[in-house]
Amino acid sequence: MGFLQGKRALITGIASERSIASGIAEAMHREGAQLAFTYQNEKLKTRVESAASEYGSDIVLPLDVSDDAQIAACFDQLGQRWNDGFDILVHAIAFAPREAIAGNFLDGLTRESFAIAHDISSYSLSALAKAARPHMQNRKGAILTLSYLGAERALSNYNVMGVAKASLEASVRYLALNLGPEGIRVNAISAGPIRTLAASGIAGFRKILGHVESQAPLRRSVSIDDVGNVAAFLCSDLAAGVTGEITYVDAGYNIVGMTGIDTE
Ligand code: NAD
Repeated sequence: MGFLQGKRALITGIASERSIASGIAEAMHREGAQLAFTYQNEKLKTRVESAASEYGSDIVLPLDVSDDAQIAACFDQLGQRWNDGFDILVHAIAFAPREAIAGNFLDGLTRESFAIAHDISSYSLSALAKAARPHMQNRKGAILTLSYLGAERALSNYNVMGVAKASLEASVRYLALNLGPEGIRVNAISAGPIRTLAASGIAGFRKILGHVESQAPLRRSVSIDDVGNVAAFLCSDLAAGVTGEITYVDAGYNIVGMTGIDTE
């Protein structure tokens, strides 16, 4: 029996089979969770429906997080299917205008690109948590989001997305503090770089991947399965004592400082 047997999980953020959310769905399904899915727009609907059917799910709901009415409708409809609640919410959503995640931080930055990056990549976590809250109370529920090292360190090209991820990580702590008494845990995985549609928007992504593979203690990058397995664990009762944490799944890259200095 899998360690998520009897749990119900809503998975957002599938855009392709390479999406981190796809790796999370795979691991959660393997561990026995029942899954429901959202899709951002009509273009992605069929893809998400076919992923859902692979996992024996027919709950596939539209959800563009920039639209409050869609957020409300999504959780209303989910409540009709899972009328006694659900246990897990996976937030795997981010976006920033392409010109804001290339080159000099200030050159690509506008009031609008700052607002969009923060709205879609950070505020949406709290907006979904707020809508999910009445459905998740007192069931040992778990909310999980995805972050990146650029939240903490200044990385070339990541720019305004790093600022939004810092806001996302702070939101994880505030949500954990406030939802903890209601039995809901909130955590993030800070994943190493993985070739996905979102990642291809970041200038120089191929070079970033190569750099990580040469410097990370494990001398490799991570896969969506690596992230999916940790996500399944963090959202399970095995992690019942963990909340408000940012867990790195990055082959150890974040611990490395200056290395390779000859001591002779
Ligand atoms: P992806 O492109 O497969 O997924 C991004 C998802 O965000 C897509 O499904 C897209 O539909 C969704 N999205 C964007 N705008 C939305 C909106 N307005 N409403 C609803 N959904 C919207 O890429 P991914 O790499 O799997 O990204 C998932 C998460 O993982 C993101 O938060 C990303 O920042 C994070 N992450 C990615 C990497 C990486 O290297 N790929 C590393 C660390 C963290």
